[in-house]
Amino acid sequence: MQYDFILNGGGAAGLSLAMYMNEHIFFKDKKILIIESEKKDKNDKTFSFWTNEKSFFEDIIDKRWKKIAFLHPIFEKIIDTSPYIYKTIKAIIFYEYCKKKLSENKNITFLNAKSTEWASTHTNAWVKTDKGIFESQWLFNSVPEKKSIQKKSYHYYLQHFKGWIINTKKDVFDEETATFMDFRLTQKKGETSFMYLLPTSKNQSLVEYTIFGREIFTQETYDSELKNYMQNFLHLQENEYEIKETEFGVIPMFDEPFIQKKSSFVMNIGAAGGATKASTGYTFHNIQKESKKIIDNLIQNGTPFYANNVFKKRFNLYDSMLLEVMQSEQLNGADIFKIMFEKHSTDKIFRFLDNESNFLEELQIMTSVPPFPFVKAFFNLINKGYFFQK
Ligand SMILES: Cc1cc2nc3c(=O)[nH]c(=O)nc-3n(C[C@H](O)[C@H](O)[C@H](O)COP(=O)(O)OP(=O)(O)OC[C@H]3O[C@@H](n4cnc5c(N)ncnc54)[C@H](O)[C@@H]3O)c2cc1C
Repeated sequence: MQYDFILNGGGAAGLSLAMYMNEHIFFKDKKILIIESEKKDKNDKTFSFWTNEKSFFEDIIDKRWKKIAFLHPIFEKIIDTSPYIYKTIKAIIFYEYCKKKLSENKNITFLNAKSTEWASTHTNAWVKTDKGIFESQWLFNSVPEKKSIQKKSYHYYLQHFKGWIINTKKDVFDEETATFMDFRLTQKKGETSFMYLLPTSKNQSLVEYTIFGREIFTQETYDSELKNYMQNFLHLQENEYEIKETEFGVIPMFDEPFIQKKSSFVMNIGAAGGATKASTGYTFHNIQKESKKIIDNLIQNGTPFYANNVFKKRFNLYDSMLLEVMQSEQLNGADIFKIMFEKHSTDKIFRFLDNESNFLEELQIMTSVPPFPFVKAFFNLINKGYFFQK
């Protein structure tokens, strides 16, 4: 066997898992291969998340916010996020940091190659690439596989967004407060759209136009919404700001369960393994939780696969109900989030969105939203066969 572990895909999930392995004595002599088709030399993303503890990547946090703003046409609030801190990491810093640390370990090899096929034999895993075939005891795959058939019982929403990092001539931003959601935009039927701001100084911020919907827009549409927002809400004319960087992305908000155990020795991880929260698109922190579980399982049980707590499955149902309500246009996402932020503390909301809340908290949140759209969504799910497909 050439390797103990192959990480197919060296993005957020592949590199995170490799970093956790690299830190633990158990993996000291293990041979690891990371296969990645891209150079990963661009700042293609910003990974933002909230935690109430030190994160594994604390050394490379770009900015921390202890306050977030929630804005809606009829409700505005600046909230202390304690005990949580909202944090962001620049993808390029993340890639460079991981690659530097991992290259110091002589047992870790990076391969710039495109993988085309991967599977298990009776005893191990293999992957075929344009630079040869490689074998390992375990293979962790984060290369997304295309979903071709969409089942009617599930939702295939997309979170799509375009953001600009802008520099302004005048002082505009409150660098202590991240704007989590600014819903003061026109809400179209079947879509939920908001602006998301991560200010790093009084003169610099990421300003991102984000939509939960079914179809992505033309680049001109995002640009025009961003320009309107600059003018109408930040009171900035075009000659008063400079676009330093652009971020564009599409995150699948799919509630169809992802297969984690692909075959006996192949485990899907990251977005490909279902780490994305279907109702919000947040993934990065889930990748960290997943990496820890994999490491613990390998050490304690000799296998990376772990059983998910059955009671946690209720969060999949909450995600599906929220997607059903938004898709059936019963209630706009802006109004649902408004009720949540108006009536509940941020730590409760963050726990709920992190799948970490308790049943009493969930009941409090559920009974605070208008019941009819959610009851209807529940019956729609039954009619679509949702409960029988899982
Ligand atoms: C623009 C953007 C911003 C985001 N911001 C956030 C955020 O703020 N917070 C958050 O929680 N989540 C965010 N996400 C969602 C999620 O955290 C990221 O998509 C994250 O990168 C997912 O990690 P991953 O490892 O599953 O996928 P990736 O990071 O995409 O890693 C998969 C890797 O596989 C490689 N690959 C693909 N095909 C092949 C092949 N055939 N052979 C070899 N390698 C291959 C790719 O180049 C890639 O590096 C964002 C997503 C996008 C697109």
